[in-house]
Amino acid sequence: MKKRAIILGSTGSVGHRALEVLGGLQDEWELAGLAVGSRDRQLAEQANRFRPGSLAIARADSASDLEAALAYSPTMHHGPGALLELVDSVPCDCVVSAVVGLGGLAATLRAVELGRRIALANKEVLVIAGSLLMPLAERAGAEIIPVDSEHSAIFQVIHGERAVDVERIYLTASGGPFRTWSEEAMGDITVEDALRHPTWDMGPKITVDSATMMNKALEIVEARWLFDLRPEQIEVVVHPESIIHSLVEFCDGSLIAQLGTPDMRTPIQYALTFPQRRPCPSDRLNLSEIRRLNLHPPDTRRFPALRLGHEVARRGGTAGAVLNAANEAAVELFSQGVISFLDIARQTERALAQHDFKKSPTLEDLLAADRWARQEVARCTAC
Ligand code: MG
Repeated sequence: MKKRAIILGSTGSVGHRALEVLGGLQDEWELAGLAVGSRDRQLAEQANRFRPGSLAIARADSASDLEAALAYSPTMHHGPGALLELVDSVPCDCVVSAVVGLGGLAATLRAVELGRRIALANKEVLVIAGSLLMPLAERAGAEIIPVDSEHSAIFQVIHGERAVDVERIYLTASGGPFRTWSEEAMGDITVEDALRHPTWDMGPKITVDSATMMNKALEIVEARWLFDLRPEQIEVVVHPESIIHSLVEFCDGSLIAQLGTPDMRTPIQYALTFPQRRPCPSDRLNLSEIRRLNLHPPDTRRFPALRLGHEVARRGGTAGAVLNAANEAAVELFSQGVISFLDIARQTERALAQHDFKKSPTLEDLLAADRWARQEVARCTAC
């Protein structure tokens, strides 16, 4: 019998590639469900091609357009609870969690409760709610397999190793388009500048996060929860070529890395087929063409977001929810031309410093912290 997958967030950058991967694994996998926020036309195209039995769209007013564009009659879920309903009602072996931001949180938590394997691309889920999700996964027997390329690298390297033998990990960072810019020049960065990523082709929010290095800050927090590490065990190393996807240093001094071309299809497929590997259409590294691999420490003065990542990994509690939400709100304001590029980290740091911290939050506390941080950033754009 074929294994069944659901993709939450199928019209995003990772979602598209997850569909490609599933297309290549058709002998073993079938697509059971697709879920999106609002892109009805793209969802209809995907659904007509892959014919999953169930579809979900969170924006209720998009549902009739979607149904009109479908060439068959799947089970439909629409409205704010649609993603959750889909996860609840469709038995499957793996849920690819690829919704950007908070929108995928409830459905991913439910999939964990149901003991499903989660191919986790939505790092915000762990940043916001890692303290709830990881113990829940342990109780429910749900496997959380990272799709984020750095975390997939670490996951691949530590497979079969003892956790106590891991001394530290190095998350690689491309450094983004402003890696070599002076502090002064960084004051005038435009939205167009920030959307030009040198090596990875990703969605706009994560591309801005990569430019501020906030993406790496979120990944520090993500790694803290995924691999149960202390913040001081997590280091960031700038690697502009994006070929070494991350490294692990073991207690005997061995440093083991995973390398490959920057192509999300590899980590997505690994999350589905783990612990096995299958041929993947991603481009191969040509070792004879790699003349040099650069690695150097990050500049936390020009990229203060990195400090925030370690701070939040150390504090835990509601800090992750505030980091994520304040950054999201600030990126939105930057994209609208309301605040400057450097204000993104400033506003996020300010919100973190001022929030009413809770050490052991409930889901409601986390959602409240998220709402507060967004309001706080919007309120204080003139601060
Ligand atoms: Mg990443």
